Amino acid sequence: MGKITGFMEFHRVKQPYRPVPERVRDWKQVMRPFPEDELKKQGARCMDCGIPFCHQGCPLGNIIPDWNDLVYRGLWREAIDRLHVTNNFPDFTGTLCPAPCEGACVLGINDDPVTIKAIELAIVDHAWGQDWIKPEPPKVLTGKKVAVVGSGPAGLAGAQQLRRAGHEVIVFERDDRVGGLLRYGIPEFKMEKKVLDRRLRQMETEGVVFRANAHVGVNLPIEELRKNFDAILLAGGACAPRDLPVPGRELQGVHFAMEYLTQQNRRCEGETVPAGREITAKGKHVIIIGGGDTGADCLGTAHRQGAASVHQLEIMPRPPEHRASDNPWPQWPFIYRVSSAHEEGGERLYSVSTKRFIGDDGGRVKSLELVEIEMIREHGRSILNEIPGREPIKLPCDLALLAMGFTGPERQGMLEQLGVKFTDRGNVWRNENWMTSVPGVFTAGDMQHGQSLIVWAIAEARSAAKSIDQYLTGASDLPAPL
Ligand SMILES: Cc1cc2nc3c(=O)[nH]c(=O)nc-3n(C[C@H](O)[C@H](O)[C@H](O)COP(=O)(O)OP(=O)(O)OC[C@H]3O[C@@H](n4cnc5c(N)ncnc54)[C@H](O)[C@@H]3O)c2cc1C
Ligand code: SF4
Repeated sequence: MGKITGFMEFHRVKQPYRPVPERVRDWKQVMRPFPEDELKKQGARCMDCGIPFCHQGCPLGNIIPDWNDLVYRGLWREAIDRLHVTNNFPDFTGTLCPAPCEGACVLGINDDPVTIKAIELAIVDHAWGQDWIKPEPPKVLTGKKVAVVGSGPAGLAGAQQLRRAGHEVIVFERDDRVGGLLRYGIPEFKMEKKVLDRRLRQMETEGVVFRANAHVGVNLPIEELRKNFDAILLAGGACAPRDLPVPGRELQGVHFAMEYLTQQNRRCEGETVPAGREITAKGKHVIIIGGGDTGADCLGTAHRQGAASVHQLEIMPRPPEHRASDNPWPQWPFIYRVSSAHEEGGERLYSVSTKRFIGDDGGRVKSLELVEIEMIREHGRSILNEIPGREPIKLPCDLALLAMGFTGPERQGMLEQLGVKFTDRGNVWRNENWMTSVPGVFTAGDMQHGQSLIVWAIAEARSAAKSIDQYLTGASDLPAPL
């Protein structure tokens, strides 16, 4: 390591963000670049621990201590080369990853962990700034054809790996634009779409072909792909939303989070939403049901749209400030977190459950009734129960957004027609080589994992790409992190 005592000299500094009053007035990315001299000090905090658990913490197996040291020494070119060995899109993960690596950092045992994610982002931003990131088209073509279904991070990473291995790759996407949840789920203020678009341009120059408006199993029969391609990678995500079947669910103004987030992302792309279909928080009392990241994305969106008030409800208890004794290092720490959207306002209510939505005479939601919940242990299991004898709480509500997670991949259409096997949890089953129960048809990302993280989607797709390459050619030099 360049600075052996760095971890004793320098404290952890967080990624800088734009001030709240400024950022809630626009849709631009909330993060600001890290000053280079400060970032070097942060890299110097990496302490040559001997067994870097951060490698295991990162599903991609990013070689984190190497690039921490390279950044400390100002060797940015070497740093981006090292980063790209394990990660196709460090710009996506450096911006959006919750950084399980930091939860596993050895320094985190008794101090704040190294600010790994910020260093990753700075390396890739620096590389784009220097025009170092170039297309890497294959030198030799194999003559084999692969269809990738879905253009989220899994589809993109799988397509790039397979193209670089010399295959002809076509990505089919049912939406009108490519990018999956990076395009229509994740808000512009978390990651601007230009970050995605420059990677798509890189991939197109490498020879990956994108077909938007191609809904496999609906306007494009899966049989056509099976006939015309040597292998198929299913990377269709897991976007079937979990519903809340309580009285009043049918009222106007109660929507799934993804309907709301997609609409705002379309506006940010310059589209106009037809008047009758508009979902906006402007001037409204907004209630977000679900305390996770999707809910936080709705929160940030609602503030930017000018909501009158925003509550975010969570059925589980408020997490502890520090790791609980049954959640030791190097596990992912289940602790209370404040995202950029939470810094911007709104109130979070924990241990509450929605009983019903109440409407006005016109059939529009006007309030929501909730009850308090307690967690009890029964036969060794934790159970959530309504606290008896408490009065229901009523909150004003003109817009309710359901952000309670996803139940798995959508089965109708492509998956039913293919006849793939499913796991007990409702995801697409695969073997250890990432092949589904249908020979020659592989899967990666949320479709086989359930709704997860970008870093997992990229890692799984890289591993699936290796298996596909092996299946097509008998051997593969592609890396497989999992
Ligand atoms: C609102 C929201 C915010 C999130 N924020 C974060 C975050 O900050 N950090 C993070 O790490 N993770 C985040 N996640 C999770 C992350 O986005 C997903 O885990 C990741 O996108 C999964 O990648 P994927 O490629 O498997 O699927 P997706 O990104 O879901 O992409 C699947 C694509 O397949 C397409 N498709 C599906 N079926 C077909 C078909 N039959 N034919 C053609 N196309 C099809 C879909 O239209 C979609 O474009 C978030 C998720 C949501 C919902
Ligand atoms: S991809 Fe995520 S887990 Fe891996 S090094 Fe980057 S921030 Fe950490």
